[in-house]
Amino acid sequence: MKVRNCKECGKLFQYDGISKLCYRCRKKDDEDFRKVKEYLYENPKETITVVSEETQVPEDKILRYLREGKLEIVGENPGILLDCESCGKSIRTGRYCEQCARALERGFKGDGEREKERKPQERSTRERMHIAQMKNKRK
Ligand SMILES: [Zn+2]
Ligand SMILES: [Zn+2]
Repeated sequence: MKVRNCKECGKLFQYDGISKLCYRCRKKDDEDFRKVKEYLYENPKETITVVSEETQVPEDKILRYLREGKLEIVGENPGILLDCESCGKSIRTGRYCEQCARALERGFKGDGEREKERKPQERSTRERMHIAQMKNKRK
């Protein structure tokens, strides 16, 4: 078995291939998560600063839970908001807003439709040239 340094406390621990934290820190992390979750369940409108003070869990850790999609803000809470990493819109959980997540899923499938639109444009350019020639004749 491999041995690694715990990302949280720096102590050596036996790496299981999954967690970057030692057993003690992982247990603490689970406890912190449960505390934040329970606190937000009872106080869904509190700001992240208050939640952090009341649960003794650092703010960046709470934000990490939100980014990882473990926690979701219930209802309208102007105190805790994340920004969509793509468009900057306020979101409640994860990394992207619904629209950006959907757009990323679709990828570049929309290009085929734009290709179709280009052809009639080429034709109209030739027609315009023709009209221009007729105007010149009239002079
Ligand atoms: Zn540790
Ligand atoms: Zn977005």
